[in-house]
Amino acid sequence: MRSLIPTLHVTRPATSTGLAPKLGGLPWGLSTSLWPVCKECGQAMSLVAQLPVRDALDQLGPLAGQSELSDLVLHLFKCEGEDVCSFWNPDIGTNAAFFLSRNDLREGYTAAPESTTEILPELWVTGWKPFEDPVPPELAEAVNDPIRWLNDFTDDMLFPATHRTKLGGVPWWTGNGPQQVPNAPFAYLLQIDQFLEVEDAEHDVSFGNFCSDGTCYVFVDAESLRATMFINR
Ligand SMILES: [Zn+2]
Repeated sequence: MRSLIPTLHVTRPATSTGLAPKLGGLPWGLSTSLWPVCKECGQAMSLVAQLPVRDALDQLGPLAGQSELSDLVLHLFKCEGEDVCSFWNPDIGTNAAFFLSRNDLREGYTAAPESTTEILPELWVTGWKPFEDPVPPELAEAVNDPIRWLNDFTDDMLFPATHRTKLGGVPWWTGNGPQQVPNAPFAYLLQIDQFLEVEDAEHDVSFGNFCSDGTCYVFVDAESLRATMFINR
């Protein structure tokens, strides 16, 4: 199955202005009243990604081909507080995944509500490269079944480490296999690895605390436009 692998740059392209797809940094145009607060420690969360649907999310996965969604922008946040809250959990308000309409966003960056909010490295998505998942189509369903994932998947189906941040196709699970997978109608949209290859950086960028070496997974229900995120190792 086809995936798209993001090309990442630290430097914002000169041609890009306003709202643009990115990981980390400060959100563009988000009303401060909508900035999510961690339910465990009460601190303002950190932006993990701000991704307009029309900038590739409408090409693969559950949002594909739904032109009426093209004005939406996916926002991902997680707690990076010093107390290390249970940010990997999708259900307790220690992370947040939600869509907003472009019309709900203002002009300019939104400053963090608190000086203690950790700002993750700002990485611009400057393009998407097509990639064929090494999982055969007949195993696409099995990839979310913990038992089959353990028994049916072989080393030649491993993803390159640089391709563990991707959109669409099948999820590539970390060493512990599929965990916390939401039930239908939620479907896999994308994942973001802790370690990111960046075109204009000398070394891979370590991106936030994803349990020190985990991967963040995002699933969406395209009908109700609910999104959920969790982090696995
Ligand atoms: Zn917290």
